[in-house]
Amino acid sequence: MRPPARWQRLKDVILSTDPRRRTLVGMALLALTLMAGSAGVMLLVAHSSTTVDQTAVQWWAALSVGGLVVMTAFIRSGETARLRDPSLTIPQMVWTITSGAVAYVLAGDARGLVPSVLAMILFFGTFGLTVAEVIGIGVYALLAFASAIGVSSRFNANASGYLDTAYALMVLIVLSGCIALNLRIQRIRAKLQQQREALAQALEVNRELATRDELTGLINRRAMLDLMALEHRRSLRSGRPMLLAQLDIDHFKPINDQHGHAAGDRALQAFAGTVRASVRDTDVLARWGGEEFVLMLTDTSADHARELLERIRQAVQALEIAHSAGSLQLTVSIGLAQHLPGDTVEHTLERADQALYHAKALGRNRVVVAPATHRPVASGTSARA
Ligand code: GH3
Ligand code: MG
Ligand code: MG
Repeated sequence: MRPPARWQRLKDVILSTDPRRRTLVGMALLALTLMAGSAGVMLLVAHSSTTVDQTAVQWWAALSVGGLVVMTAFIRSGETARLRDPSLTIPQMVWTITSGAVAYVLAGDARGLVPSVLAMILFFGTFGLTVAEVIGIGVYALLAFASAIGVSSRFNANASGYLDTAYALMVLIVLSGCIALNLRIQRIRAKLQQQREALAQALEVNRELATRDELTGLINRRAMLDLMALEHRRSLRSGRPMLLAQLDIDHFKPINDQHGHAAGDRALQAFAGTVRASVRDTDVLARWGGEEFVLMLTDTSADHARELLERIRQAVQALEIAHSAGSLQLTVSIGLAQHLPGDTVEHTLERADQALYHAKALGRNRVVVAPATHRPVASGTSARA
């Protein structure tokens, strides 16, 4: 069930709408509530006891709670966001430990309550701190309580030495527990971080595998379809020309048959490298499948594209691919189609494919440009010429 809007608005006002700040303010409010509870218990003790100075405890309660109210308001204002410790964990802990040490002196016979409150503070604060910070806070807590125990045994008429020693030992035990817990948390955090990094790496590898062709290092058909759809939308907006070329290596099957599949693979790699080296960084070459490739050219005219493809054809013809018994040569047939405004990428690819078919039919090793015809309006299949 959704919480009522009014309650949501109240939460927004108290905690702010910024998610990170909401968490920090929430934590500060929790600390404040715990402190208010402890102050309540102290006021109850002062009320019931004849030996405890009521006015002093009231002042103490007002200051202890007031200090945390100020810090919570500071966090809520967003001013702490710039600080290294935006949650103000260390100032809050120093404040509550000091308040606890003073409470120890003021509480008289009821001072045994204080170490348990201290334990709570330390365990709470431990989660957000580094080991060094926990040790620093621990040393401060020890000093504060040693002074409190010293002062208390001097002022409390019925001070009992062994009880104070027991409390001091309790503080030490709590501190050791906190440091041990903190070390454990840090280890878990480091492990989680490692796992996150390993996962991110695995995802990256997966993404590579999903979008790249392993043999040639070119992007694959799926990724190319995405890029072409993107470029299609861009060309609609900006009017930037887009041309698609289908490239198919001639008589590739006999190369495999005569020189082996490994030589065929090397030929495919050499072909991909040659074409890639001939085009701009902004042009995209993809392995469409087998020995077929698709090249997407942008920001260029059909005439320039034709010249470029002619140069590519010659560069492929000039390639010498070494194999066990000498070297082999390749030729390529290319069909080029200009993407027409308002047409689909699929239709432009189809036109490029038909041009490629013509290039093959005309004797291979040539570039053929598709005529600029929009997708036929009438239904029916467009037969290959
Ligand atoms: P055409 O001039 O008409 O294009 O003839 P072709 O022999 O090139 O065409 P065909 O489609 O008959 O043969 C393509 C060959 O490409 C068949 C296939 O074994 C080979 N081939 C496809 N993928 C790979 C690959 O990854 N490595 C190797 N070595 N050969 C491949
Ligand atoms: Mg072929
Ligand atoms: Mg083919």
